[in-house]
Amino acid sequence: MSMIIAIANQKGGVGKTTTCINLAASLSATKRRVLLVDMDPQGNATMGSGVEKNQLTLTSCDVLLGEASIDQAMIRPENTDYDLLPANGDLTAAEVALLEMQERESRLRNAISAVEDRYDYILVDCPPSLNMLTLNALVAARSVMIPMQCEYYALEGLSALLNTVEKIKQTVNPELKVEGLLRTMFDPRNNLANDVSGQLLVHFPDQVYHTVIPRNVRLAEAPSHGMPVIKYDKASSGAVAYLALAGELLRRHEKAAVAVA
Ligand code: ATP
Ligand code: MG
Repeated sequence: MSMIIAIANQKGGVGKTTTCINLAASLSATKRRVLLVDMDPQGNATMGSGVEKNQLTLTSCDVLLGEASIDQAMIRPENTDYDLLPANGDLTAAEVALLEMQERESRLRNAISAVEDRYDYILVDCPPSLNMLTLNALVAARSVMIPMQCEYYALEGLSALLNTVEKIKQTVNPELKVEGLLRTMFDPRNNLANDVSGQLLVHFPDQVYHTVIPRNVRLAEAPSHGMPVIKYDKASSGAVAYLALAGELLRRHEKAAVAVA
């Protein structure tokens, strides 16, 4: 069974897309079969995978509206070893059109079910809001990974997101769980970051990943070259951190699989 992980946080600029691209690349570097689904009209995961978002004929918008199959819209970007369901600004229109549709929150789940067997990991990059697109991602997913910057308001947004996850779990997606909380853009010299990180560990001891993503300029540069950081500078601290995160995820999941067997 493939792991379908929504990478979500309604707060903007916390490292969702950077995590999506670099985790997808790191998992595929370990020979896992990976699909990255871009559910953000900003199309940052698409661009960061080296795909020009404004030259696409089919995108996740067409898939959500039932105008194309997921197979028709998926591509394999030149610079990556993962497949991509790309997105661009058209997705804003889909968000509005979806409100009128039946089973509006399950459109992505239904689309993914057609290709799920072909992948070990399906990562869904969410927009910075709790809208219909994020809802589609959370209904399609088995778990949610929450990237967070360790700063003053981080915990406040977290409870709203966790409440949403709980509501979805109680209604449309009983198997949804919190995959983990990921500390991103971490600067160990910053006292506030250390304080917030400490609070996270106290409140969510089992859910915070051991791996911490450091602030690293190579991670910020890589998308402008249209490639994941392991292709751009594989010795950088950002590349090493995302490879470590992939390792931590694989160990957790393999342990869980042994426990079930
Ligand atoms: P949005 O909510 O707009 O979708 P996001 O949560 O997807 O944003 P990113 O786009 O991944 O966040 O990151 C925001 C900015 O911070 C980007 O310019 C990105 O390159 C940069 N960035 C992300 N992670 C790091 C890091 N660990 N070190 C340095 N820069 C980073
Ligand atoms: Mg993003």
